Amino acid sequence: MANILDGRKISEKIRESISVEVDDLKRLGVTPGLAVVLVGDNKASKTYVTMKQKACEKLGMHSILFEYPESLTEQELLAKVQELNEDESIHGILVQLPLPEHLSEVKIIESIAPEKDVDGLHPISIGRMMTGQETFLPCTPFGIMKMLEFENISVEGKHVVIVGRSNIVGKPAGQLFLQQNATVTYCHSRTKDLEVHTRRADIIVMAVGKAKLLKEDHIKDGAIVIDVGMNRDENGKLCGDVDYESVKEKSAYITPVPGGVGPMTITMLMNNTLISAKRSNSFILSKVATLEK
Ligand code: NDP
Repeated sequence: MANILDGRKISEKIRESISVEVDDLKRLGVTPGLAVVLVGDNKASKTYVTMKQKACEKLGMHSILFEYPESLTEQELLAKVQELNEDESIHGILVQLPLPEHLSEVKIIESIAPEKDVDGLHPISIGRMMTGQETFLPCTPFGIMKMLEFENISVEGKHVVIVGRSNIVGKPAGQLFLQQNATVTYCHSRTKDLEVHTRRADIIVMAVGKAKLLKEDHIKDGAIVIDVGMNRDENGKLCGDVDYESVKEKSAYITPVPGGVGPMTITMLMNNTLISAKRSNSFILSKVATLEK
């Protein structure tokens, strides 16, 4: 029977310390600010955006939502991002994906100033991450690593199988594991005999978007199972990519859905926004540090 990696509990702990830092910054006249841009009326996106805003408000951060109809043009969206790039009260910009088809995600993400790219998706952020430089890490993979760190689970030398190779989850997750000296295998929709790979894994990250794809007989005893997926099962209930009830009997650790990776993703967004606010006010902070000496 697995230990549950409780994303809500771990998030709460991390958010407590973020909140203390936010209060400290506010006393110096700096309120970390996150701007969220939502285009169209994708229901799931709306839910995620609301959760991110609520988390911001709870931590005392400044959060502002720009909501646009699907008819928004690329020029209009680029102009909005540019305005936010120049707005000193905004330290993080998040354009909620997916965007409607007529808007180029690549172009929009590239238009975000890298120093405000708290989602860690700008090619400069990704390049820095790949080369092990300091940068904003993509929130979901970052959240996964934090979760393991929090539970003192070392990944060094472990065989990690990542199922899914999206730019926002699968690919960067593999890189972060690699940086911590894991041996990484990527699987995707063209992988043959997926179970052959997952059965060999010490750690499995499921980031596919297919309800209950990973079953009990696809893992070895004592594997660590991280479920990123967010799906609806046959009864319309939220579920992950893992057949939780059976897999939990065989794994050493498992993340539930909901309450696993999801809350960690939002927490890392808050964390990145705080870091951005601190970086852009490093002059004030260093002055205070000098005065306190
Ligand atoms: P994408 O749709 O961008 O990527 C899915 C990946 O899964 C692709 O690489 C695809 O392969 C692969 N895949 C599809 N079918 C199979 C299969 N049968 N076997 C193996 N691999 C397969 O999804 P995202 O990465 O954006 O998201 C994945 C899931 O995670 C979704 O459910 C999403 O809602 C959830 N999510 C959750 C977050 C959280 O905070 N909890 C954050 C972000 C996403 P190929 O490349 O060959 O097409």
